[in-house]
Amino acid sequence: MKNSLILLEKVFARYDKIIVLKNIDLEVFNGLIVVVGPNGSGKSTLFKIIAGLLKPIAGRVRVLNFDPFVEIDKVSKNIFYLPEKDVIPYNAYVDDVIDSLREIHDPGLVDQYIDLFELSKHMSKKVGELSQGFRRRLHLVEALSSNRKIILLDEPFRGLDTSSRTLASEAINYASRRDNCILVSSHIISRLDPNRVVVLEDGTIKYNGRIEDLKPEGCIILERGDEQIKVCGDELRNTDLSNYRIKTVIC
Ligand code: ADP
Repeated sequence: MKNSLILLEKVFARYDKIIVLKNIDLEVFNGLIVVVGPNGSGKSTLFKIIAGLLKPIAGRVRVLNFDPFVEIDKVSKNIFYLPEKDVIPYNAYVDDVIDSLREIHDPGLVDQYIDLFELSKHMSKKVGELSQGFRRRLHLVEALSSNRKIILLDEPFRGLDTSSRTLASEAINYASRRDNCILVSSHIISRLDPNRVVVLEDGTIKYNGRIEDLKPEGCIILERGDEQIKVCGDELRNTDLSNYRIKTVIC
């Protein structure tokens, strides 16, 4: 039987007294998985648990068959976690950042992503002088060229305009393979071509499956105030979930 790369069983997490993930069961084998859901639904918390940064209060977590809270060294060398907020120091020069990436990752792959994300003309700038979109592109170069078995991208499209988002989606599609898994959290699926979509709301998984399997009768009903919209199958790609509540998921 094939081993899962990530396994969560009956996982609960909380900050202070508030439970933010409830009874999460999730098994990930390979390919591209998009975790979508409104703001505050628990996407970042889920990624922090997989990265071994936040210990759940209950449940079982296995990453590459290891407990990330016990055998962190075995997990950390195989996982790359890109948090929602920028982590590359603003006072560093882009070319120094790239040089250090070339030393630790496959330099050919680093250069390939620099070309793809059109970063060459910004090499002499400081990271803090880049626009938000280009800073995100630089972080994506680091994440994707790491070539790790598990790559977690928390809101990789934040601050990207439509054309950069398309570029980033294509790069992520290209980087996901049969022997790795990439998890992307986002309000919107857009141009990503995921093997699986996980819909989170209020800390619970409302749907876990293929987009195609949500149609024609399977739909997500979203509400915002008095407004209700029905999103079926592929329409989920272009619906920004950030400001909606998920009322029902009919699979
Ligand atoms: P998402 O990534 O889907 O926006 P998060 O995982 O960031 O959701 O947040 C889930 C819930 O946990 C939200 O209600 C958020 O306000 C809360 N939360 C997140 N981080 C913290 C924290 N460090 N301390 C207290 N509450 C937090």
